[in-house]
Amino acid sequence: MNSNHHVYIALGSNKGDRLKLLQDAVNLIFSEIGNVNSIARVYETPAFGFEGGDFLNTCILVETTFSAEIVLQKLQAIESRMGRERTSSETYQSRCIDLDILFFDAEIIATEDLKVPHPQLQHRKFVLQPLQDIAAKLKHPQLQQTVGDLLKTCLDESSIEPINIWLKNPAKQYDFSKYNYVAIEGNIGAGKTSLAHQLSKDFNAKLILERFADNAFLPKFYEEPLRYAFTLEMSFLADRYQQISDDLSQLDLFRDFIVSDYDIYKSLIFSKITLPEDEFILYRRLFYLMYKDIAKPDLYIYLYQNTQRLQENIKKRGRDYEQNIEDDYLDKINSGYLDFLKNQTELKVKIIDISERDFVNNRKDYLWVLEQIV
Ligand code: ATP
Ligand code: CA
Ligand code: CA
Repeated sequence: MNSNHHVYIALGSNKGDRLKLLQDAVNLIFSEIGNVNSIARVYETPAFGFEGGDFLNTCILVETTFSAEIVLQKLQAIESRMGRERTSSETYQSRCIDLDILFFDAEIIATEDLKVPHPQLQHRKFVLQPLQDIAAKLKHPQLQQTVGDLLKTCLDESSIEPINIWLKNPAKQYDFSKYNYVAIEGNIGAGKTSLAHQLSKDFNAKLILERFADNAFLPKFYEEPLRYAFTLEMSFLADRYQQISDDLSQLDLFRDFIVSDYDIYKSLIFSKITLPEDEFILYRRLFYLMYKDIAKPDLYIYLYQNTQRLQENIKKRGRDYEQNIEDDYLDKINSGYLDFLKNQTELKVKIIDISERDFVNNRKDYLWVLEQIV
């Protein structure tokens, strides 16, 4: 997954339904730019340097994969969409929404279109006051002072008062509170781990990731499947059993939110394909001995991806031993999962068809996946 940037954005409005405009802007920033990590209180200040209605101002911290330039473009597109009209006049004027970049990581940018940190922020109480709510200790990369210190020494004497209505975090519309333990499953290369990571970041979940990389039998299995299938499946089962029991015993299944990128049942699905019948029967006996006393996810998600795109993903991530996987093997795994899902009654299951989506690179697709889950 692309690396994330932290961008602080100032929001202001002094025309129209100001509070609604701020909330709409936060919602659009969330859908188009990235997850909103914090939201300051909303403050009211008189218009500054020109005649006009009082302002509502606030600041948010957003996590984004876009560059500062792209974030600025997107903010300007949001401003226009929300009805901001730009005139060529040099003076300040009333506006339904103003969205400025305050900080972008610790970057210093000084191009014609973009100055970061925002050159006026240290002179403006209506910026520093809300910023202090969410970033008191953040250091200005040029002035080398924290936001808290900048506010203390700021000469701006205009009045500023918090209002008693808070903006809502748009992520709240995706309500995961009904789940404690979500397992994400799918074929090889479907994107289980990427989705698990993203969910844990955006919704504060504890992650349980499969430790396949440590499995010394996996490369051997791809070389000589008949010889190594049983050993491989046994070692996977032992690892998964141990990991799930260890990791879950350290978590609070009633209070923590847990996301894993596998479910232990995959052992049985894969072994049914890789093992001869008699070995499979033995394996299944062992499996159920372990399965009965292990915690089950309260939501099981199956990411369905078509074979062609699975192959593309497998090529892209470039693990040597996976490069010669045949389409037929992927097809069988997919059918194995679907058979299992059709016949099981214990788990709450959601099958999500992501074959037309790219939730790793496209935020709209990611938000679409979230909607399917909750
Ligand atoms: P101020 O920058 O003093 O708050 P403003 O927000 O009223 O003024 P706008 O008319 O919204 O000014 O924007 C003027 C230009 O400022 C924009 O076209 C944009 O290219 C440029 N700009 C430079 N740095 C930034 C920044 N950090 N955030 C937003 N816009 C910026
Ligand atoms: Ca501004
Ligand atoms: Ca602006």
